[in-house]
Formats: sequence, structure tokens, C-alpha cells
Amino acid sequence: MNGLLAGKNMLVMGVANDRSIAWAIAQSLAAQGARLAFTYENERVEERVRKLADTISGSILLPCNVTVDEEIEGLADQIRESFGVLHGLVHSIAFAKTEELEGMFVDTSRAGFALAHDISAYSLTAVAQRLYPLMTEGGSIMTMTYLGAERALRNYNVMGVAKAALEASVRYLAADLGPHGIRVNAVSAGPIRTLAAKGIKDFNSILRQVEEKSPLRKTTDASEVGDTAMFLLSHLARGITGEVIYCDNGYNIVGV
Ligand code: NAD
Repeated sequence: MNGLLAGKNMLVMGVANDRSIAWAIAQSLAAQGARLAFTYENERVEERVRKLADTISGSILLPCNVTVDEEIEGLADQIRESFGVLHGLVHSIAFAKTEELEGMFVDTSRAGFALAHDISAYSLTAVAQRLYPLMTEGGSIMTMTYLGAERALRNYNVMGVAKAALEASVRYLAADLGPHGIRVNAVSAGPIRTLAAKGIKDFNSILRQVEEKSPLRKTTDASEVGDTAMFLLSHLARGITGEVIYCDNGYNIVGV
């Protein structure tokens, strides 16, 4: 099927490099004809993201650190100016200090807890708040989550608690924005080796376990997540909102 997103304007937040899940999502969206805008977190990653964005014709690149309200407001202004109407929003952003992603959750600091929740959970609401008014023809918002929101997974710690808040935010946002014709969902991906994943201690052993135990006996490929996100952002998913959809080769259903 081709051209599912022709004539649709979509904003992709969370590309840091070519291994980013957001980049795989962007490729799936572009393959279906979407017009894309990308954001980058700061100057440190700007050049890398610009090189990637340049490979998708007609795309635009804008700065946005989600901890700064003024930057989110500036982003909304620029999207209004460039696109007029927004149809889709990809939120693929998370952060926690490395020292909070090992050892015991009980040792989480107040500052580490607040930072992880600000960037990984609240930012979805912060961007939805400023961007949903641009979704005047209805829209679809999606974010990225992980099984650690529901299960106590070793080393995932404060990020699991932030993902639980993110998943609850998806349900509240879906309830608020549904009457505007806007759907809000999350994709719960299996572990993928990315920059963010590098911060999680013993990530290789998590990958090995998934390969051995998941029903499909393989780890998740970012392109699988890209296509799931594309589905959620398309008309095909018009009856789905407030959901967490697994794209993990079935790992979440098995007892390990
Ligand atoms: P990544 O490092 O490529 O992406 C994380 C992104 O968050 C980066 O682009 C980074 O610039 C951005 N970010 C961090 N702080 C920010 C801030 N203050 N302002 C703006 N952007 C900021 O890693 P990824 O694995 O692609 O992560 C994307 C999402 O997928 C995250 O929400 C992550 O928790 C989730 N996820 C990842 C996996 C995995 O195994 N890799 C599994 C499930 C869910």
C-alpha cells in the first residue's frame, strides 16, 4: 500500500542519529508520502540530524529542547507558519541520568526522578498542549514506551516509573483530545540498540533474553516500530486511541 499519508504534515521529535527509533519512524512516514518536520535537541546534534533530514526531500528542521517552554512555543509558531495544519506528531524522547539506570530503584534521587519525568513523561503533554490547536483537520499523536512501565525490570528503574506516567498521560490526553478528532497512542517497543539504550546497564543481556524467549525468537528491528507508528498515524488506525500497542515480537506475553 502506498501514499497512505499523502498530503499529511507530520512532526517527528527525537532523531539524534540514524539508529534513533524516530528516524525509522520518519522513513516509514516518508515512504507513505508524508511531509515531515524534524526537531533536534541542541546544537550538539544539529549537524547530524540536518544531514539525515536533508535526505528526505521537502522536510524542514527546527530546534526544540522539550525542557524549555519558550522553545516549544517557538516550535508551534514555526510549524503554523510552515505547515498551517498539522496532522501527526511523533514523540520519541526520553532521558534519565546514567547513574539512575543501574543498581536499585530505591536509591533514585529527587533530582533524578524529576528530570526523568520532566523529559520522558511531561514533555508529551507540553508539546501536545501547544500543537493540538494546529490539528484542525483531526490528528494523531504517538509516543514511545517500554515494558518497564508495567514490570519491574532490572536497571530500568526510574525510567520505568516515568514510562508509567507517560502511558497514563496517553490515556488522559486521548480522553481530552478525542472530541477534537485527535487520537493519542503509544508503541511499546522491544529493546533496540540506540544511543538511549546504551545508558541502560547490561543492555546486551536484555537483547539476548528477548532473542531466546520472545515468541518470534528475535529482537525488535527499528523498522518494525516505524511501520507500527506509521499505521497509528494513518487513517487505518482511525478507531484506535488511548492504547499502548506492543511491537516486541511478542516478548510481553511470555512468562520468563
Ligand atoms: P535515541 O537516543 O536515539 O532517542 C532519544 C531522543 O531523545 C534523542 O533524539 C534525544 O535528542 C532526545 N532528547 C533527550 N532529551 C531531550 C530534550 N530535553 N529535548 C528534546 N529532545 C530530547 O534513543 P531511542 O531508543 O530512539 O529512544 C526514543 C524513544 O524510544 C525513547 O522514548 C525511548 O525511551 C523509547 N524506547 C526505546 C527503546 C529501545 O530499546 N531503544 C525501547 C522502547 C522504547
